[in-house]
Amino acid sequence: PQTSLTLLGLGDMGTALARTWLAAGHRLTVWNRTSAKAGPLAAEGAVAAPTAAAAVAANGLVVTCLLDDASVRSTLDGIDLTGKDLVDLTTGTPEEARARAAWAEARGARYADGGIMATPDMIGVPEAGGYVFYSGSRALFDTHRATLEVPAGARFVGEDPGYAALHDVALLSAMYGLFAGISHAYALTEGEDIAPKDLAPLLSEWLGAMGFFVGNAAERLTSRDFTTGVVSNLAMQVAASGTLLRTAEDQGVSAELIAPYLDLMRRRLTADPAAHGGEDTAGALLLLKKG
Ligand code: NDP
Repeated sequence: PQTSLTLLGLGDMGTALARTWLAAGHRLTVWNRTSAKAGPLAAEGAVAAPTAAAAVAANGLVVTCLLDDASVRSTLDGIDLTGKDLVDLTTGTPEEARARAAWAEARGARYADGGIMATPDMIGVPEAGGYVFYSGSRALFDTHRATLEVPAGARFVGEDPGYAALHDVALLSAMYGLFAGISHAYALTEGEDIAPKDLAPLLSEWLGAMGFFVGNAAERLTSRDFTTGVVSNLAMQVAASGTLLRTAEDQGVSAELIAPYLDLMRRRLTADPAAHGGEDTAGALLLLKKG
């Protein structure tokens, strides 16, 4: 069913979101600080509100997709949110989301936070596989689920308003670790008679096979047993890590992207070689948690 909603923020992401709601026949009111960005969307059927306050007043469901948490605060400051359902798709930290939820609830609104796992070109393209994590008010999410699922799939991950951001950041952090390893591999072969396009399929295949580590680490963390069914034990892996570091040195490549992880494995082993030597690498992550 078609509904009506308000969207604040017409950057690359906001504009992509807006187009999907308009294309699906929803009545959409938009506002952007730089008002010229609303022009093309008005031509496609959106109502361009003159102020953020007018845009918020127009609908019960208000979606924000602004640069950062500070821009959400400055945009909504002083605007009546009583009875509103506020969905903030702006990227932020879990703590920012929790504070924004408390802030919105103190103003009489229900609040859900969203973490967008997609780039603008993936919005409105289900086969691209993008989606949005949501957390906070389950009642809000259930009320507006169909509308929220128009731009991309929706995954509700808990009533703690910080959890959408926490999932978002966890996935992005894992991604950067992956990018770091891939970058190091290409740097090792850069300038050699090994074409990047020839290394590429080998890297893809290897990383796919090593993806088992995701589920493997989850099982270890759940059982707290890091020693059963170990394929490559930690003592061997720490010994072999010297080869990785010497090769980097010989190739004239900085090991700065992979050295921290190799060092973490070494610290786990040396803390108690008898206890940890037979583990796999997952146990090393226990050293990351502070306090
Ligand atoms: P853009 O830089 O394209 O747009 C930023 C938007 O924020 C514009 O509408 C801008 O208004 C507005 N804005 C910035 N500062 C203020 C302010 N002080 N007061 C009011 N409005 C302000 O960013 P995107 O649209 O790409 O991203 C929006 C959000 O979506 C971000 O939080 C981003 O992290 C998130 N996101 C983006 C992804 C992407 O690939 N693009 C992927 C996943 C999440 P103006 O036009 O006036 O400058």
